[in-house]
Order: sequence, then C-alpha cells, then structure tokens
Amino acid sequence: MERKEFIKSIIMGTAGITTLSAFESFTDALPAQETLMPVLFIGHGSPMNGILDTEFSRRWTKMAEEIPVPKAVLVISAHWFTKGTKITAMDFPKTIHDFGGFPQALFDVKYPAPGNKLLAIETSELVKTTKVELDHDWGLDHGTWTVIRHMYPKANIPVLQLSIDYTKNAQYHYDLAKEIYALRKKGVLIVGSGNIVHNLGLVAWDKLNETEYGFDWAIQINNKFKSLIKEGNDKALINYKDLGSEALLAIPTPEHYLPLLYTLGVKNNKDEVSFFNDKAIGGSLTMTSVKIG
Ligand code: ZN
Repeated sequence: MERKEFIKSIIMGTAGITTLSAFESFTDALPAQETLMPVLFIGHGSPMNGILDTEFSRRWTKMAEEIPVPKAVLVISAHWFTKGTKITAMDFPKTIHDFGGFPQALFDVKYPAPGNKLLAIETSELVKTTKVELDHDWGLDHGTWTVIRHMYPKANIPVLQLSIDYTKNAQYHYDLAKEIYALRKKGVLIVGSGNIVHNLGLVAWDKLNETEYGFDWAIQINNKFKSLIKEGNDKALINYKDLGSEALLAIPTPEHYLPLLYTLGVKNNKDEVSFFNDKAIGGSLTMTSVKIG
C-alpha cells in the first residue's frame, strides 16, 4: 500500500469524521511554500498573561501580524513533560488549566482551536529515531493557550502540541527537532514555549509588579544565552550545564529551557535571529523571546 493510501486508511478508519478534502489539504497539498515559516521561542511567564493586556501579550499579538499566517501551529510547551514523545491528535483539544491559585477568570478561559490528526500523523512520520505516539488525552496546556490566544484570537488555526520526553537529555531534544524541520516548509509555525531563565524558588515576589527587575546573575546569564544564540553556538546552549553557576541558577529544572532547544534545532544557517520581550521580571525570570527566520 502506498504511504498516502495507508495514512488515508488510518484516518478514514479511525475517526470517520475527517473528510477526504481535509486529508488532501494536509498531506498532498501541504506543498512546499515559497517562504519558510519562521520559528518562535516565547517566554510565557505568568499564566495571567493569558488574560491580561500586558506588554508581553501585546507583542505576541503584533508578532502574529508580522509573520505569514500559518496553516497550523505546533507548540513544544514546558508544561507537557512525558515519558516518550507524544503529539496531540484529537480533533478538538481541550483547554487545560494546569495551575492553581489564580483568579476564576483564568480558569474560565477556553481556547477552542481545532487540532489536526493529519498533521499529527505527518509529524510523527517525520521522526524516524523514536516513536511519536498519537495522543488523545492531553489538549492545550497554559504554555500554549495563554500565548496563542493572543496571536490567533479567532481560534481558527489548528494548534497541536508535541511533548517533551523527560527521560532524555538536551542533545536528544535538539536532534529530535531537526527531524521536524520540513514542517517549516509547509506553513507550520513551530513555537517553543518556556522561559530561558526560570527559577521560581528565587522569585522576588514583592517585585513582580515592577515592569522590569532582574537579579545580576539572571541578567548576566540571559545576556550570555542571547549572545550564544546570536552566534549560533548551539553546542554551548545544549551543554548549558557547563556555562557556570549562573546557568544552573537559571535552569534548576530543564522543562522551561528545553523548548528553546527545539526552536534552535529547526533553525538553518541562513535564518536571521532577533529577540523580543527581552526583559527580566521578579528577579529570577526572563521573558526573553526569540524569532528565528
Ligand atoms: Zn511555565
């Protein structure tokens, strides 16, 4: 059986509601685009950015206006850490409120963007080095929806998530990302959502209302990360544990940093790199975000 026929049989057989035209639009007709989609790493910060009009959320909205309208968005979120790699494959991913202690208004938010099973299958097929499991349980966690709802408020663009395998090291994630590079040629916006400097244990809670406040070490290492990104020194960024004590303070646990490595993994030599929302808040967090391409 041809690969295309095989995929079609899976789709038609399992869901029954995915139409042939949808199939064609996401496999055959995911044609190479004239322009390569850019890639974004977004510092998501507090979940409250999801409902507040902040300088950060305003920049997310503006960014969406500056880049081509994607056919779909694939997010690697700090908040989906799994054993093995999974991709959301449901038609309608639920909005997950994976936090506590926030106002009811945040829990009331629904972001009803569709998923796309066909793209989930395509993506899992691109990855040869490990099995990417099609997932029907997760949805869109706050690492995704608090950002994407500001970018695409109509919720009319399919949004998928790719999980981060917590059993693997940084090099593995960077290499895995390389396998999904082709999605950029097909109009898929790949977004890593985390925070480069993220140490909740050291947050100066009394300074969180200040528009900018960073501890010296946080600013220093954030600048170091930025220059390494600018230089294309991915090796040093993968081996961040060798960057000294500031790096270990910035990344006490890797989940908010690893999405950055996914975005670097899908970067090519010609891509331009720029930064936005480049601010420290609460002392030990940076919102620094990266546009690639
Ligand atoms: Zn987070």
